[in-house]
Amino acid sequence: MPFHGDLVSRIELWDQPTYYLGNTFTGAYDAAFYHRVEYFLEDWYYLLPDHWRNPMRINVLGVHVDKANSWHMYGRAIDFASISMLDSNGGNRFTAFECAVDTWGTKRDFNIDRRRYWAAVAAINYRSADVLHYLYNAEHRNHVHMDNGRSGTATTTTFNSGSPVLVKTVQACLTYIWASPSRSTASGGRRPTAGCAPT
Ligand SMILES: [Zn+2]
Repeated sequence: MPFHGDLVSRIELWDQPTYYLGNTFTGAYDAAFYHRVEYFLEDWYYLLPDHWRNPMRINVLGVHVDKANSWHMYGRAIDFASISMLDSNGGNRFTAFECAVDTWGTKRDFNIDRRRYWAAVAAINYRSADVLHYLYNAEHRNHVHMDNGRSGTATTTTFNSGSPVLVKTVQACLTYIWASPSRSTASGGRRPTAGCAPT
């Protein structure tokens, strides 16, 4: 019996195929975590513009890895590299969520890449308490890490001001999605009025 318990093997998430470096990827997931990832994808899809269509291509850098001191060991973490979708206006495939921050601005406007990134990070965070990104450390400049180590089987999460990375996430969302200095909202600055819908 493996020490991480039973894991489920999947080649897709929410019926959207997963890839690793261009090849079909089979991930080994903890069952409850697998459903959290699917919830994120479904949430996010329905917040996106109508012409952003499935099938997605979900590029990952890993799910279950036998590595100590990591939720990856338990199949309760995933590293996203990017997610592409189809644009029904013309049929082109494009990157809806680019986690390699050093490539931002190479295919389109830098600010668009950044805004889409933070919108997706916010959607992930709603379903999983721990999301690590490039403001967490340099190791996360090429992927976004999601795990449910703290949030467990909870279907949604809440803001925790004691989490430095979560504070950075909220500040970045306010700044880069709504172009709102994060300290000004209480004094009449622009307030977020809609969900994390990037354009
Ligand atoms: Zn990771």
